[in-house]
Amino acid sequence: MKALVYHGPGQKAWEEIPDPTIQAPTDVVVQVDTTTICGSDLHILKGDVPAVKPGRVLGHEAVGTITQIGDAVTTLAVGDRVIVSCIKSCGKCSFCKTGIYSHCLGDEGASGMGWIFGHLIDGTQAEYVRVPYAENSVYKVPAGVPDDHAIMLSDILPTGFEIGVLYGQVKPGDVVAVVGTGPVGLAAIMTAGLQGAARIIAIDLDANRREQAHKFGATHDVDPRAADWKQQVLALTDGLGVDVAIEAVGVPATFGTCVDIVRPGGNIANVGVHGAPVELPIQNLWIHNINISMGLVNTNTLSMLLNLVAEKKLPVDLMATHYFTLDQMMEAYDTFARAAETKALKVILTRS
Ligand code: NAD
Ligand code: ZN
Repeated sequence: MKALVYHGPGQKAWEEIPDPTIQAPTDVVVQVDTTTICGSDLHILKGDVPAVKPGRVLGHEAVGTITQIGDAVTTLAVGDRVIVSCIKSCGKCSFCKTGIYSHCLGDEGASGMGWIFGHLIDGTQAEYVRVPYAENSVYKVPAGVPDDHAIMLSDILPTGFEIGVLYGQVKPGDVVAVVGTGPVGLAAIMTAGLQGAARIIAIDLDANRREQAHKFGATHDVDPRAADWKQQVLALTDGLGVDVAIEAVGVPATFGTCVDIVRPGGNIANVGVHGAPVELPIQNLWIHNINISMGLVNTNTLSMLLNLVAEKKLPVDLMATHYFTLDQMMEAYDTFARAAETKALKVILTRS
C-alpha cells in the first residue's frame, strides 16, 4: 500500500510499504476512505515530537471500512464503516474504566499513552491502518453522516469540547473567550453553546479565522494586536473578565492572553500542545481563585458528539475547506502548512 512515511525532521514521502495485518485478536484493519492532517502532524515534521521515529506512518484521524477483523472481535464486521478515534482504548484498564482513555494502560504503543497512531504505531495517512483494541477504539458511522463530517470526530471535536469546554466548566450564561481559532479552537466555539455559553469571543491574529469563527458560533471577535484588545474583551463582560478562557494555540504568549482576561473565580482551559515552559504568575492567580486545567483528549464524548453531528446540530460541514485524493498527500500537506495564505481549516483526503 501507499502511506505517508516520516523520515526525520522536515522529511516525508508518500511511498510504498507493506500492508498492515492483524497482529492481536482484538485488532481490525481499516481501509482508509478519508483522512486529514492535524497541526500535531506539522509539529512532528518540525522535529518537536522526538518519540516519533523515522519510518513511522503519520496521521491519527480516519474514517474507513473494516477489511479484516481479529478473532476476538465480535461487535464489528468486515464492511463496517467506522470512525477511528485518535486515542486507543483497551476498555479494560483502570483509566479506560473511568473514561481517561488518554492514559490507557494497554501495551500497544506504550502503556499509559492513549495517543499512539502516527506517534508510537503506524497511523492513518495511508491506504490501510491496523487499529488495536478495535471494539473500544472505533465507532460505527450512522448512515447519512458523510465522511467529511465524521472525520471531525476522530480528534478535533472531542478535543475542543472535552479539554476546552468541559474542563473549562463552561456553564449557562458564561462569557467564553477562545484564544486561537484554528480547527481545535473552532471546535471549542462550536460546542461551547452545548453548555449554555452566552457570549463567545474569538481571539486570533488571523482576520480570516476570526471571521470564520462567527459561522461556528462566535458572537464577537477581537484582534489581539489591537492596542486596546484587553479593554475590548473586558467590555464584552461585566468589566471583570471572562468566565472561561480557552487556550487553543500552544505558545506562552497565548497562555498569557488567557491569564490577562480571566475573571476572579474563572477558569483557564489549556488545550494547546506546548513545546516550551510557560511562566505561571501564581502570585497573582491564587488570590483570584483561578482554576487551570489541561489535558490530552480522551474522545470519551465521541458517541455523544456523533449523535449531534448525525442530527446536524453542529456546523461541521464548514470545517472542510480543501479536498484531495490520498495520492495528493504532499500537495495537501503544502496547502495545510500555508493555512494563512490558503485559508485552509481542515484538508480532506479521500481514496480515489
Ligand atoms: P492551528 O495551528 O491550526 O491554529 C492555531 C491558531 O492560533 C491559528 O489560527 C493562529 O492564527 C492562532 N494564533 C497563533 N498565535 C496566536 C496569538 N499570539 N494570539 C492569538 N492567536 C494566535 O492549530 P489547531 O489544529 O487548531 O490546534 C490548536 C492547538 O491544539 C495545537 O497546539 C494542537 O497541537 C493542540 N491540540 C491539542 C490536543 C489535546 O489533546 N490537548 C489535541 C489536538 C490538538
Ligand atoms: Zn485502557
